[in-house]
Amino acid sequence: MRIVGCHECDAVMEEPFVPDGGAAYCIRCGALLFRRHSRTVEVCFALVVAAAILYTVANVYPFLAFQMQGQQTHTTLLEGVDALMDQGENAVAALVFLTAIASPACEIGLLLYVLGPVFFGFRLPGMAVAFRFVEQFRPWSMLEVFLIGILVAGVKLADLADIVPGTALYAFGLLIPILAAASNFLDAEIVWRRIAEEA
Ligand SMILES: [Zn+2]
Repeated sequence: MRIVGCHECDAVMEEPFVPDGGAAYCIRCGALLFRRHSRTVEVCFALVVAAAILYTVANVYPFLAFQMQGQQTHTTLLEGVDALMDQGENAVAALVFLTAIASPACEIGLLLYVLGPVFFGFRLPGMAVAFRFVEQFRPWSMLEVFLIGILVAGVKLADLADIVPGTALYAFGLLIPILAAASNFLDAEIVWRRIAEEA
């Protein structure tokens, strides 16, 4: 038995079973307690596959190109981290690596590992552990902050050199709303239910 509290009137009640696509309302004031998205696994799996493709593009293709005095330099994300380390900016390099490369890779990888088997109806070892990680990890994924940093740096550098946005920057710009949508559509309760059904 699980207990839920109403956000509107603070009433505490036993959590009702709600089928996919349904919603639960407070027994006292009628406020919406929670909604179960229908097709959450299907929609999220499709979004995460799209995110994985965009993430690959974002890491393989040049992120930015600088044009200064007729010379053009391309940089990928990883080369950017490398260049920061060369300049002794180890803390900034670590931050860029964590927010732009490692954290989305973890998030996408773990989500694929859980949603893939749930979608296709088979089981992998450690799915429950992986999904618990996803839930704890979500508040720490801050790609949008990284993108704002890039934009601010780009505006400041615009006087010094011509900045040409690369393919990876567009991929990154698309990756952010797609990951946010996946996170929004992800109904943990349904995923847990489906994991349990496969057991
Ligand atoms: Zn209520």
